Amino acid sequence: MSITEIINNIPNRKLNNHLNTSDSFYIESYTMYDKYNIPWIICPFCGKRQFPLSKGAVIKGQVFKCKGSNCKQKFMVNLEG
Ligand SMILES: [Zn+2]
Repeated sequence: MSITEIINNIPNRKLNNHLNTSDSFYIESYTMYDKYNIPWIICPFCGKRQFPLSKGAVIKGQVFKCKGSNCKQKFMVNLEG
C-alpha cells in the first residue's frame, strides 16, 4: 500500500470509529453530598438523586437510566476510588 492510499483511508476509518462508538456515548453523572455527608449519584439531565454510594465504591462505564418520571435519560457513571 502506498502512502497516498494510507492517507486516503484515514478519514473513512475515523468516520467508522465515530459511528461504532456513537451508541455508547453518554453524558457522565456527577456526585453530590447530602447533609449526612453521604455521596449520591446525580442525574446530569434533571439533577435528581439516583442512589447513595457506599464508601470506596468503584463503578466504571456503567450506564444507568434516570429514575425521574419526566426524565428517563440514560447516563454514564464513572467512579474511581
Ligand atoms: Zn434525570
